[in-house]
Amino acid sequence: MSKGLLWFRSDLRIKSNPALAHACANCEQLALVYFYNTNDTSNWKMGSASKWWLHHSLSELQTALHAKNSNLDILITDPYSSLLALCQQHDIDQVFWNRLYEPTNISRDKEIKKLLQENNIKVKSFNASLLYEPWDVTKPDGTPYKVFTPFWKTIDKQGLEFQQEKNIRKFPKLLKLKKNTSFEKELSKCKLLPTINWDQQFYQHWQPGEKGAAKKLKVFFKNGLENYSAGRDFPDKNSTSKLSPHLHFGELSSRQIIIATSKEIEKNSSKQFKKEANAFIRQLVWREFAHHLLYHFPKTIDKPLNHKYSHFPWAKKYQSNLHIWQKGQTGIPIIDAGMRELWYSGWMHNRVRMIVGSLLTKNLLIPWQEGSQWFWDTLVDANLANNTLGWQWIAGCGADAAPYFRIFNPVLQSQKFDPSGNYIRKWVPEISALPDKLIHAPWESPSTVLNDHGIVLGKQYPKPIVDLKSSRERALDAYNKIK
Ligand code: FAD
Repeated sequence: MSKGLLWFRSDLRIKSNPALAHACANCEQLALVYFYNTNDTSNWKMGSASKWWLHHSLSELQTALHAKNSNLDILITDPYSSLLALCQQHDIDQVFWNRLYEPTNISRDKEIKKLLQENNIKVKSFNASLLYEPWDVTKPDGTPYKVFTPFWKTIDKQGLEFQQEKNIRKFPKLLKLKKNTSFEKELSKCKLLPTINWDQQFYQHWQPGEKGAAKKLKVFFKNGLENYSAGRDFPDKNSTSKLSPHLHFGELSSRQIIIATSKEIEKNSSKQFKKEANAFIRQLVWREFAHHLLYHFPKTIDKPLNHKYSHFPWAKKYQSNLHIWQKGQTGIPIIDAGMRELWYSGWMHNRVRMIVGSLLTKNLLIPWQEGSQWFWDTLVDANLANNTLGWQWIAGCGADAAPYFRIFNPVLQSQKFDPSGNYIRKWVPEISALPDKLIHAPWESPSTVLNDHGIVLGKQYPKPIVDLKSSRERALDAYNKIK
């Protein structure tokens, strides 16, 4: 009798899960496990917001598995040191997982695979997360891409039509590994939820799990997709899908999204709708590009892809400014709105991620790695590939990056993408009474207007952390030193 083990990782779903489907089709008895290593000391161990998400996503997965008469065992240990013994103890002869693409996961998985195979345990791995494997998309000369547009064209040529995977017909008999403890007890032992009350608002914004992902997609198809290209840059418009954390945890895959989007296109055959849907799919291909880069250039998680930036003259003492930026107290409203949106909801709009990143790396001359670490801890969608690409892009040192000398002016960005100040008013209520025209740069408001609204800069709301004009010049000087 074939006994198998399915190892859940960043693929916390039942539908269209190739490793799970194969395990169900090929085993008579199946254990389903999630490993959580509380002693992980790596630099990129899971951040606090991701832990919050994971807690709820595992819980949802367990509920869904129960409905199929199955069960998830949470094992609080390092898989490398325990998986083999576990298989031997329970006579498991096949292990199934979906592939991960972060450098430390790749090397760990290789070692585990070798160890299991040396002990006559079969390992089968699958792609559940990407449209194409990173090694399958190359330039004609076989080298990896570093520029997005040709990457996109190649993916487009390779095809963006995917088949819906068949639903699992029947779950095999359950092989329960942990008999004397409950799922809830093990989950609580992982200590994934924050000890301070910081996650309060997360519940208003998110429903982790496969069901929540399906709902988000439905809402986006109803309210966002048809205006995606015009609306996606406006942070108060809710025009983007907000699927990023669901994608990161694998509650939904890019392929599933593309299949569902194609169905929407079939329902609405207008040229304009097709254009909007394409613009959305293009963003999913940015995610693909990020994973391609991470796979081929793994050092970029903390080193610039463009080597000349290794010698960039960053500010030496910046802790105090970094802290002010993190807390959303810079005195520049669009920046503070973004940083507070991040803190309170675990997410930030893409346009605003670029604006806050530009201020940090250019006007404040703080290394991009500091920004990427902060995002890593506070984003519910923290994803090594996307975060690395985003930070290197905005710092000007990565693939297809915005040139360093293109420094975003946060006030102009704010006027353009939040013209009515709705986004600012939502997250920076202390200046909400200011008229639309003045809300983007309160320090330029006549003192009579500030007085009328009871605002004293430096009291109710900070004065700006830097002078935007002179700090821009300073950034350009720094850039000229490494040019
Ligand atoms: P939509 O516009 O609905 O896009 C759909 C999906 O496409 C997203 O869910 C995401 O998976 C992908 N996508 C969209 N834009 C990008 C992009 N620029 N790069 C890569 N993939 C993209 N995204 C993360 O998922 N995790 C991160 O840790 C992360 N860090 C970032 C850091 C910086 C400095 C910047 C500038 C961007 C970062 N992004 C990150 C990319 C982007 O901001 C988010 O993916 C997007 O805001 C998620 O919102 P959405 O799901 O509504 O996007």
